[in-house]
Amino acid sequence: MCGIVAYIGPRDAYPILISGLRRLEYRGYDSAGVCLLSEDLNIYKCKGKVSDLEEYVVGKNLSGNVGMAHTRWATHGEPNYINAHPHFSQNKTLAIIHNGIIENYAVLRSELINRGYKFASETDTEVLVHLIEDIISNENVAVEEAVRIALNQVIGAYAIVIIAREFPDKIIAARKGSPMVIGVGEGEFFVASDATPIVEYTNNVVYLNDEEIAIIERDHDLRIKTIRNQSQTPYIQKLELSLSEIEKGGFDHFMLKEIYEQPRSIYDSMRGRIHVAEGIVSLGGIKDYEQKIINAKRIIITACGTSWHAGLVGEYLIEDLARIPVEVEYSSEFRYRNPVLYEDDVVLAISQSGETADTLAAIDLAKSKGATVLGICNVVGSSIARATHAGVYTHAGPEIGVASTKAFTAQVAVLTLIGLLLAQKKGTLPKSEFVKLLFELDAIPAKVERILKLNDKIKAIAHIYKDVKNSLYLGRGYNFPVALEGALKLKEISYIHAEGYPAAEMKHGPIALIDELMPVVFIATRRGIYDKVITNIEEVKARKGKIIAIITEGDESVKRLADHYIEIPDSEEMLIPLLATVPLQMLSYHIAVMRNCNVDQPRNLAKSVTVE
Ligand code: GLU
Repeated sequence: MCGIVAYIGPRDAYPILISGLRRLEYRGYDSAGVCLLSEDLNIYKCKGKVSDLEEYVVGKNLSGNVGMAHTRWATHGEPNYINAHPHFSQNKTLAIIHNGIIENYAVLRSELINRGYKFASETDTEVLVHLIEDIISNENVAVEEAVRIALNQVIGAYAIVIIAREFPDKIIAARKGSPMVIGVGEGEFFVASDATPIVEYTNNVVYLNDEEIAIIERDHDLRIKTIRNQSQTPYIQKLELSLSEIEKGGFDHFMLKEIYEQPRSIYDSMRGRIHVAEGIVSLGGIKDYEQKIINAKRIIITACGTSWHAGLVGEYLIEDLARIPVEVEYSSEFRYRNPVLYEDDVVLAISQSGETADTLAAIDLAKSKGATVLGICNVVGSSIARATHAGVYTHAGPEIGVASTKAFTAQVAVLTLIGLLLAQKKGTLPKSEFVKLLFELDAIPAKVERILKLNDKIKAIAHIYKDVKNSLYLGRGYNFPVALEGALKLKEISYIHAEGYPAAEMKHGPIALIDELMPVVFIATRRGIYDKVITNIEEVKARKGKIIAIITEGDESVKRLADHYIEIPDSEEMLIPLLATVPLQMLSYHIAVMRNCNVDQPRNLAKSVTVE
């Protein structure tokens, strides 16, 4: 959500900033802007895409080797030219870009208006730049000190970069609750919301912590201090990211590339963690907490969106395998509803980006009540990875497509490993069953590979249904979360209304929607309560609904009932979500492409939801 890039060094800043914004486009945004410092601060911005900004700046003065750029995901004030970032201070000596929300902006704004400040935009961000200017002029302090004083007055979340006309050799960056990484090159520095704009220039990065301010000066070492004025030693880490991982590699869209990466990403999530020959599972990241989890009276999984669906699969898995009660909570609800939490509760927080604001808040809440909090995230060094007591990385590689695909299956793979680890430690499964599950899990990447070969068939089904207005996704047991995830994929990238439901619940409402125009996607694999699902298919058929069924290879009885079927390899019931989700991702992808939708950057959506 929102992208920040900044540069200071010997090179022309503009090309670095624009290519950085392009790399951050996947995060979701509605307007873009850039600020370059030469004699003056020059700001260019517009509503729309980074390509619109590039057109807009043709013929303008783009010189300067200090600069910053922003893609905005509007929270306060509609997406338009005026509200786009960067924002000037009143006398145009400072410019700011900001990701996050200044929650007390209204109070600060009216105080500043009383002191004679005029606001150009409706954003919460603009208060910050006027406030900093006000502090500089009243207290006669350097810009970094003014930023520090201002941030002490702010409630909310921010990642900001400030450039000051009077201090052309430095940029100031700060964060609280929104991500920020600093790339440390040879005599140059890069600042960005994540490492993707930095990786082509340097592998040395510093992840800024909450309430830290970075003073980034030309020809100086990086300095960091907290908003309480304590100096911090910058901790330089090596990036484990390569340029090829964040490029499309011949695919039309990142989403398609990521769907096709799943045999690899599922394998990577399990590599070194399952030992089929020895019949054991090990998870180094949570080793010190194994006993704590085994003794937990309950596990609470907290997440948002697709990660919440993975959490639901996790609930079924962990209860089945390890006989520990599990509850799954939307982070945004959990954090505000005064939940009952005990010190022997274990909270599992799931987030691809590791930056999801609501999940971070849920983690803080759980920690404040004494619970043990473990994370499952994909981005190494992310806020959630750092805020939790311990955790397991999914190792799916960078996910750029806004609609999550490989991160979901990697999360489910990791949750399966956690369930198996707990079963192993608690002795809740006979050894033979345990080994069989390991064996089947090990075979999943190859089975996903086979599903990917069904692309043409899935595309043909997509063609038939690309113009529908509504759709229903139904499944039971482990396939219920798959139905939810399938429906979410369709609505988020193709804008077709889609509902996921437990198949038997259909009779309590959605059945009223069924007519000859309604496609109903059944996840009807031959495991679990299969016979009951067949009955549900009959019920839809009797009302002339169109049936698209995900079935187990060779299942003739559903083939006869369905209008269309997609055959996937068989596996243990609890592993089916790792397989059945994949054709649904492909179906959504093709429908969205046929509808000319922007698959990688669907409207209104952001990749990492860093505001609540
Ligand atoms: N709250 C700010 C605005 O609406 C920043 C939003 C963002 O993170 O892009 O302009």
